[in-house]
Amino acid sequence: MGRSLVDVRVLQREYLLAISRALTAELELHDLLRLILRAAVDLVAGEAGMIALAEPGRESFRVAAVYGIPADQVDHFAPLMRGIPYQGADEGETVPELTRRLHEVAQKIDLALTRVFRLPMISGDEIIGLIYVFQSGNYHLVQDAPTLLRSFAEQAAIAVKNARLYEQIQQEKQRLDAILEQSADGVLILDNNLRITVFNRALSQMTGWSADEAIGRHHDEIIQWETLKTDTDLNEALANGWPLPGAAHLYVEGTLLRHESGIHQSERPSVSLGITYAPMLSDRDQMTDIIANVRDLTRFREEQALQKTFISVISHELKTPVSIIKGYAGTLLRQDANWSPEILVESLQVIEEEADNLTALINNLLEVSRLQAGTFSLEISEEVLLPKLAASTARRFETQTDRHTFALDFDPHFPVIYGDERRLTQVLNNLVSNAIKYSPEGGNITIKGEIYPEHVTVSVRDEGIGIPSHQQNRIFQKFSRLDNALSRKTEGTGLGLYLSKAIIEAHNGRIWFAANQNSPGTTFTFSLPKN
Ligand code: ADP
Repeated sequence: MGRSLVDVRVLQREYLLAISRALTAELELHDLLRLILRAAVDLVAGEAGMIALAEPGRESFRVAAVYGIPADQVDHFAPLMRGIPYQGADEGETVPELTRRLHEVAQKIDLALTRVFRLPMISGDEIIGLIYVFQSGNYHLVQDAPTLLRSFAEQAAIAVKNARLYEQIQQEKQRLDAILEQSADGVLILDNNLRITVFNRALSQMTGWSADEAIGRHHDEIIQWETLKTDTDLNEALANGWPLPGAAHLYVEGTLLRHESGIHQSERPSVSLGITYAPMLSDRDQMTDIIANVRDLTRFREEQALQKTFISVISHELKTPVSIIKGYAGTLLRQDANWSPEILVESLQVIEEEADNLTALINNLLEVSRLQAGTFSLEISEEVLLPKLAASTARRFETQTDRHTFALDFDPHFPVIYGDERRLTQVLNNLVSNAIKYSPEGGNITIKGEIYPEHVTVSVRDEGIGIPSHQQNRIFQKFSRLDNALSRKTEGTGLGLYLSKAIIEAHNGRIWFAANQNSPGTTFTFSLPKN
């Protein structure tokens, strides 16, 4: 069978068209290479062919497509890919060593292959692969076969290059997606219609919206400010011409209502967020997207509020005893007065008491700062007799109130506990002093010990104003005081229960409260392990 050069050229054109079409049809690289190879083999009336691709970063080649070679015979062709470097454009149509090796292979696999062309696939100035075309018989048809085949090699090189770029982009995209998804800050990307295109996990946690629910929605459906701390929000800024050339970022801060039916449930109905919007502009300064970085400021705001409370509470608590001490001392110092010994003693007692109050407050503050610095530690080595501690606490407080009566209820076999006696005394003091403070009408205060197989409990029961049970967690927090008239009237820092909890937990115990059953008042209980 013979083909004229004109026939061949027409055929070549047709194949090249088909390949260009395939290139844009996003075929898999492997299929595309096979198509190119078949066309190349066909064009020169060859028998078989293979494409070998250079392994990036290595000297070797690996087979990427074969045509006309049974799959189980492909390995035999390996010697053709090894150790005969491509010699450049002037390699010519035949390389004697290549032909010799082909003959060896052909004998082994019983295919009558006689002739081999090798064409480089070049990208930039790098050889990224070689196309081998094998002929059988001892004739060849077209004089300038290498020239004809070169166009196929070019197409193959483009295909490989595209595929590699695509793979790189894919990898890069996966990496970026992972970074966005894992980011501790919320990331929100909006298109130029303010529709959400990216919504990461941190943002789901903050807002209560899942990414599936949020993507595709308008920005304003998700970001609904309850209160705004900054002057403008995104819509107002856009209406005022943001972003101006130069593309400054826009910062918006406020509290946001959380999505109620959200999968990320939270006790908090709203969150404090700070959002930085960064516009992405095209070459012609058109806004294409907005990338927003979202920070959860709730903790920070709570910290700030606590800090404020701390300063006002502490200054009040410090001022009161200091002004009482100063008042009494000033009065006693008056030259014109002649104080009776009773008044002198009484006044000095007040001064001493208030000085003790100051010391207690300062000690509490020191304990809190130790807790915060992580240097809070117990001195556990003592054998603590809780019934004895309870009795002496009751005795001490009895002298300070005439409205309350005290009762102790401990089993005579109440076991000895190993703990920090000074700190456990502090817990009892705090619970009993609260019991007195928060039962202004007076009543009975019972300190009761109970024995269980693994632990003991001590409870302090009052008949006072009581605490709503949903305050269970809040009340043990630093500086937390219930907002009732009595708390506002009585002195306190909101540190007592916070420290008590820290002390009991450092002993591997627990502390909680419950409303009394069938009578007013509260019972605070702590447990301690027996060993
Ligand atoms: P402080 O008594 O200094 O305010 P605490 O940490 O000891 O601080 O207590 C925190 C808050 O818990 C108090 O302000 C009060 O509102 C409430 N509270 C504590 N004990 C009782 C109690 N026995 N009865 C009612 N409310 C209490």
